[in-house]
Amino acid sequence: MASHNTKTLVIRHGTLIDGAGHPAIANDTIVVEGNRIRSIGRLPEDIRLDDQDTVHVIDATGHWIMPGLIDGHCHLSFGFPQMGPVPSARGTTNPGFSALRAARNAQQVLRSGVTSLAVPGGTWFIDVALRDAIAAGVLAGPRIACAGNFIVTYGSIIDNEPSWVGTPEHALGVLANNVDEMITEVRRQCKNGVDFIKLADSTWGDTQTIAPEELAAIAQEAHRRQVRVTIHSRGAGSTRAAAEAGLDWIMHADLATAEELDVVAEAGIPLMPTMTFLQRALEVGHEFERGSGELDLIKRNWDSAVGMLERARTLGITILCGTNSGNSPMMPYGQLHAHEPEILVCYGGYTPLEAIAACTRNNAFVMGLEHDVGVLEAGRLADILLLDSDPLADIRVLQGGQHLAMVIKDGRVVDHNGAEETEPALALQMPALA
Ligand SMILES: [Zn+2]
Repeated sequence: MASHNTKTLVIRHGTLIDGAGHPAIANDTIVVEGNRIRSIGRLPEDIRLDDQDTVHVIDATGHWIMPGLIDGHCHLSFGFPQMGPVPSARGTTNPGFSALRAARNAQQVLRSGVTSLAVPGGTWFIDVALRDAIAAGVLAGPRIACAGNFIVTYGSIIDNEPSWVGTPEHALGVLANNVDEMITEVRRQCKNGVDFIKLADSTWGDTQTIAPEELAAIAQEAHRRQVRVTIHSRGAGSTRAAAEAGLDWIMHADLATAEELDVVAEAGIPLMPTMTFLQRALEVGHEFERGSGELDLIKRNWDSAVGMLERARTLGITILCGTNSGNSPMMPYGQLHAHEPEILVCYGGYTPLEAIAACTRNNAFVMGLEHDVGVLEAGRLADILLLDSDPLADIRVLQGGQHLAMVIKDGRVVDHNGAEETEPALALQMPALA
């Protein structure tokens, strides 16, 4: 990792997309001092570009400058999939191994231009540890805001085992079947340093597995501890209940109809559709042993979600961007983090500018950094991408890091070409996770 944070970083020229939704403009200068943006616009008079001891000049002529991407939904520490050479049982590895692999995953994510990442659920408190290690400079990676285990009831997603087996310790979920157990779990997770609480209703939204009064109790306890709450909610009823309970954002909402979306809009709660996973499953799911019955459900949910997305836009509901990268072997790290904006443009009627704002400015909310990241303006943290192609002409140039000319995170230039030295083996077998 090259570092220039002791020097003043000066990015000259280029076309600026600020991430706040303003039209792109030809820019003169961005000045970065330490890890924050000092100014955008005219070159400040006290900066001498020829003083190479104190100033590092980057010429962005012919490039597009935008905030670092934020993926609002990526899992780094699934205990799955099994890897051939690693001893495991019941589809998991040990926490130490999972932590090391999560660190590698985080590095791949950063190199693709994702400078901030929200992790809605993982195993043990691996993501908390990884967040802190990255923040402490132990290793390179995106900023992380994370939950702990999903809080689930019997029959929710992740509760895949029979009740006499229970929910294994390595699972993403932790069972809590009444309000007392849920509040105790919220307190346990807060004590262990999560940024937000993740609840999870049923896998595909066919049943509602968490009661409205349980949602309300969790929201109250989490908010008292100044922690936000989100939910995996594909169903109509759970989406309505989550909005009424005052959760902070809702993931998926696939099956929400006009009626439930009115409630969401009224409550002013953002939605994170995360349709990238559905689209990817429909494209390649059969290659990853996804059964036809499950793919039929996914197709049903995709069709409904397209209508949901369009309607959410007309209702003025804030849309957040997440991809569910890392939730299964068909969702590889570093490749899919900017597919959601393409879906917003192609299926939701969003402009490329709006789609970029959704995965920068809007997503800053799930990081709890709405005043610090997601927009390029003086005073914000210096998370900046340089692209060699115009994402407003073709939103797909954001994908997979293929048009990245430079990644700057926290005022430091990231070595985004860091070649992978190894290609770990992945097995296909894993439980159905959504
Ligand atoms: Zn997920």
